[in-house]
Amino acid sequence: MSIRPIYLDCHATTPVDERVLAAMLPYFTEHFGNPASISHVYGWEAEAAVKQTREILAAAINATPEEIVFTSGATEANNLAIKGVAEAYFKKGQHIITVATEHSAVLDPCNYLKTLGFEITILPVKKDGLIDLTELEKAFRPETILVSVMAANNEIGVLQPLAEIGEMCRDRQIIFHTDAAQAIGKIPLDVQAMKIDLMSLTAHKIYGPKGIGALYVRRRNPRVQLAPQQHGGGHERGMRSGTLYTPQIVGFGKAVEIALAEQATETQRLTELRQRLWEQLSQLSGVHLNGHPQARLAGNLNISVEGVDGAALLLGLQPVMAVSSGSACSSTTTAPSHVLTALGHSQKLAYASVRFGIGRFNTQEEIDIVAKHAIATIQSLRNSAFVNLGS
Ligand SMILES: *Cc1c(COP(=O)(O)O)cnc(C)c1O
Repeated sequence: MSIRPIYLDCHATTPVDERVLAAMLPYFTEHFGNPASISHVYGWEAEAAVKQTREILAAAINATPEEIVFTSGATEANNLAIKGVAEAYFKKGQHIITVATEHSAVLDPCNYLKTLGFEITILPVKKDGLIDLTELEKAFRPETILVSVMAANNEIGVLQPLAEIGEMCRDRQIIFHTDAAQAIGKIPLDVQAMKIDLMSLTAHKIYGPKGIGALYVRRRNPRVQLAPQQHGGGHERGMRSGTLYTPQIVGFGKAVEIALAEQATETQRLTELRQRLWEQLSQLSGVHLNGHPQARLAGNLNISVEGVDGAALLLGLQPVMAVSSGSACSSTTTAPSHVLTALGHSQKLAYASVRFGIGRFNTQEEIDIVAKHAIATIQSLRNSAFVNLGS
């Protein structure tokens, strides 16, 4: 096999941890039952496994197992939360508040609701990527039914002040949804302390399988109503019909269990690796850190580089490292990232950005190789730009 670039794109996805895969395998073959089959042992085994993951997820966010609704991932969970609330509460009001730096799986359902007549307020962010709570305060209206603010940003890693937002929403009896796809297993989450009513989760950003996620739906104080977006056999308390994907659910539970057990040590280790990378890269002039320096995910480093072309930069880095650029994280467009432009960057600087997503299987040696190659690439691009200008 040829040598492949060092994987540093852990916000896009992560490999399945061997321990997760081992837990999943028996549920493809031996324990293949349908968890909804209540009349025999095949169903009971599958149901027991599903129940265990429900308990792990609930414990991870201080919820109850009945409040976990399995979905195909965070995209579906966000759709169910936002469209489900809009449809269930439209008589109460038709105003929703969200943020400019949200994932497209939040912004696009909101834009869709706009076509149906809902009003959407999109809050700006400060230069460090955090929302301004006074802006949120000003955005509330009597007809506001939902606030959706992500826990951790997928591009710049910024952690929004969930507890403060939750408090403000609860005071006004407005439902608070958070997309925690990048946060689960990496930072402490507590739906009681943070007054969160809906929370989207996914497995594949924390070394679990792709295609499985969940929506936490608060059942008490207040009980959140959701209009189902997929109708059928009435699974998941009628909120999301479809036969449960037992092996993926088992993997999700195992992934969360491992992430929580290792959270403290891993946060420390990733913070050190990120610092090590930043210390080397920031020796160059004109290299800017995107996002708040402290209120961010341990494994996230996002930089913008002056004096280089974004496409040339990515091309230069590609042989050595698998990273993402500052163009929209969508396969169909090449617009500059809406997150980086929301920070106030010009289009050109937004393009000349690199997201390093450091994860469980990265080592210090890899970080040093990456830093050295990135510095050499940036220097050589700047030198050739200078030569071009001079000629
Ligand atoms: C990855 C991601 C999603 C989409 O999750 P899927 O499970 O891949 O559908 C949504 N929101 C954020 C913040 C993400 O990072």
